[in-house]
Amino acid sequence: MTKPEVIIIGGGLAGLCCAMRLSESEVPCLLLEASDAVGGRVRTDVFDGFRLDRGFQVFLTAYPEAQRVLTSSALRLRPFYPGANVFYEDKFHRVADPLKRPLDSWRTVFSAVGTLGDKVRIGALRQRLQQQSIESIWNAKERTILNILSTEGFSPTIIDRFFRPFWGGVFLDPALHTSGRMFEFVFKMFAEGDVAIPEQGMEMIPRYLAQQLKPDTIRVGAWVRHIEDQTITLASGERLSAPNIVVATDGTTAYQLLGGTVCPPPQAWRAVTTLYFSANVSPLSEPVLCLNGEGKGLVNHLAVLSDVSPAYAPSGAALISVTVLGNPPIPDSELKDRVKTELKRWFGIRPVRRWRHLKTYRIFQAQPEPLVTREPPKLRDGLYVCGDFRQNASINGAMESGRIAAEAVLKDIRREMVMVEAAP
Ligand SMILES: Cc1cc2nc3c(=O)[nH]c(=O)nc-3n(C[C@H](O)[C@H](O)[C@H](O)COP(=O)(O)OP(=O)(O)OC[C@H]3O[C@@H](n4cnc5c(N)ncnc54)[C@H](O)[C@@H]3O)c2cc1C
Repeated sequence: MTKPEVIIIGGGLAGLCCAMRLSESEVPCLLLEASDAVGGRVRTDVFDGFRLDRGFQVFLTAYPEAQRVLTSSALRLRPFYPGANVFYEDKFHRVADPLKRPLDSWRTVFSAVGTLGDKVRIGALRQRLQQQSIESIWNAKERTILNILSTEGFSPTIIDRFFRPFWGGVFLDPALHTSGRMFEFVFKMFAEGDVAIPEQGMEMIPRYLAQQLKPDTIRVGAWVRHIEDQTITLASGERLSAPNIVVATDGTTAYQLLGGTVCPPPQAWRAVTTLYFSANVSPLSEPVLCLNGEGKGLVNHLAVLSDVSPAYAPSGAALISVTVLGNPPIPDSELKDRVKTELKRWFGIRPVRRWRHLKTYRIFQAQPEPLVTREPPKLRDGLYVCGDFRQNASINGAMESGRIAAEAVLKDIRREMVMVEAAP
């Protein structure tokens, strides 16, 4: 390939979107990815014919940055039902999005999950956020989710039975102490589009991005050990140089490569555990998220992914994904049994007993704290950084930070070209 003008370290969504933006402007770049494929935290394993995302996650079709870089038809997105089933007092209660499913919503107006007033308040919050621009959400004063929900007047019942498992599951924080700006942004995204998964797994997202790049742009199995000035040293000892380097790793690695003075590390990481089970028959038969509204137990939420996209399971089988928040200090063998015991109350003893455990993923570094930072990408001339930890911890935040870093590089390259042309 032509000698790269830019070397990007890390092939997650941030690094890929950075490479895409540079390629759009025909700036030659080389992306170095340490692992065996691109995707970073968005990967899917094929196991026994099942597609197992590395941790349950979903794509929101309203994400503006994703709309810029992805073609939803290429991902063949499969939507979830716009609402949830909340398990409480031995049965499921339906909570439906009042605008997308008005009839369902009306039918469940007096369900045990919240008061009529709560449902009116959900509609009002939805309307307020739909009218507000994304920029004004980010520029608002920071509050916690709990603070916003209390100020809006939601009852403790709906907070504990619905918001806590739902938003606790989105932000891996059942205490709801997460950034209210992040909550309002994601709430707006839920309101303005679908919650979906790509037909063949979440990894279709990074794969699609990689396909938009020239084949020799990406090198996998290239673990960067050291950066000095404009030279990178790989674990193999190979050295590579470029006038511009973009570090697009996770925040902790970026800090290790760059040092604290130029790049503050995430203060902490939020963890999550996803267990996959197979069954002969789906316990749900509809693409709906099920929440634990009881305020106790290990399970936070469950979805039958093959009901959302049948390609997640081989024919004649169902794929069940169960999410436990954090990293429970219980061995995997015991965890799967305890999760099944809990779910026997949800779906009956006999069917759950037949479920086969496929795999457990413990993701220690799922989301960096704080979830919202919005830090500029340029560290010094020729050195830039991007990733969800520089913008916000989401698919959209990672993609956006990659594009912003690329635009900072492009601005500097153009400025240098003008200076060279102007020189006597
Ligand atoms: C379980 C889970 C659930 C989630 N759920 C959602 C969700 O539902 N919706 C949502 O919007 N977001 C969700 N997220 C967050 C979202 O996936 C991340 O914010 C986003 O993928 C981060 O992308 P990134 O490119 O910033 O970082 P990463 O994905 O971490 O990419 C960094 C890349 O750098 C590579 N790398 C690291 N060190 C080196 C090195 N030394 N040399 C070369 N390469 C290196 C890594 O291998 C990796 O590929 C979830 C995340 C997880 C883990």
